[in-house]
Amino acid sequence: MSELDKLMRPDLRGRTPYGAPQIDVAVRLNTNENPHPPSPGLVADLAARVAEAARGMNRYPDRDAVDLRAALASYLTGSTGVALGTDEVWAANGSNEVLQQLLQAFGGPGRTALAFTPTYSMHELIANGTGTAWLPVPRLPGFALEPEAAALVVTEHAPEVVFLCSPNNPTGTAVDLEVVEAVYEAARGVVVVDEAYAEFSTRPSAITLLGGRERLVVTRTMSKAFAFAAARLGYLAADPAVVQALQLVRLPYHLSVLSQAAALAALAHADELLATVAAVRDQRNRLLATIREMGLEAVDSDANFVLFGEFGDQRATWQALLDRGVLVRDVGLAGWLRVTAGTQDETTAFLDALRDGMATTGEATQ
Ligand SMILES: *Cc1c(COP(=O)(O)O)cnc(C)c1O
Repeated sequence: MSELDKLMRPDLRGRTPYGAPQIDVAVRLNTNENPHPPSPGLVADLAARVAEAARGMNRYPDRDAVDLRAALASYLTGSTGVALGTDEVWAANGSNEVLQQLLQAFGGPGRTALAFTPTYSMHELIANGTGTAWLPVPRLPGFALEPEAAALVVTEHAPEVVFLCSPNNPTGTAVDLEVVEAVYEAARGVVVVDEAYAEFSTRPSAITLLGGRERLVVTRTMSKAFAFAAARLGYLAADPAVVQALQLVRLPYHLSVLSQAAALAALAHADELLATVAAVRDQRNRLLATIREMGLEAVDSDANFVLFGEFGDQRATWQALLDRGVLVRDVGLAGWLRVTAGTQDETTAFLDALRDGMATTGEATQ
């Protein structure tokens, strides 16, 4: 053990960082980004707003990002039908920072976060980073969750935080609202529903359950459907008391004036940005159908990606795809790979590479 390893928190020694490979290949379908870049109109509006913000760059930004939170609240109200106020919405640098702030406030040493796995790898990494004990509970066959079974494990372990991810990354499966209700009733702690992919799903949001549930939190992001991953803007909807708790742990001025201006520009173009969702969904449905036609399994998906397999050795298929210029994600789930729905051309390139690659890896096709 090196000197520095001895100085590091024992619970962090030997851990590996988040590591989705950033490889420069033609077709990148590994991090669930929206493949459609912003329009010239949005780029121009964003540049104008950032220029305006730059004129006041000598001053700290609005610490509480009130204008942005009001715009996010209005977007959520419009898309879910649930009237939300600015005091019920919080924003940070990506929903990852929102999740970290949640665990800083409600998790931490001596406390436990429970999640149904496989699920989003960052939930575990953020638990590790905040010293929160991580309790993974395997999902049922087919990656499903049932209300009674889920409530039972939550009652048994009484964690301070429960993560539900819907649609779930990496499986794509949505969580029924009955599961959210049952888990909430069973939990004594905070229940976080990560809805990073909500816009790709046609199911009702857990935001419709917020009324009267002070311990329920729904997180969202502009990284996926909004096609705004590089801007780093995530947010949540919850009781005002949750927002107040996060204000105790956030760093002052955490959200730069540039991020706030850029996000306001994107929200002003929300209809245009979300118009890409239908095209992405079409490609997702095409992935599901075509992968199944090839004799492989593809898990039903409410998101913009598909988990497919089952391979004897998914790493061989991952490499065979990369050799053909297509990057997908090996999420560390034996037998499975995850592919993001791209543009029509990208999706075609993936399907061609898969067909061709399987011939060389010796994986069975029909
Ligand atoms: C991509 C993703 C996020 C997004 O994180 P950001 O920090 O907002 O980019 C959050 N949750 C899940 C489940 C995701 O897959």
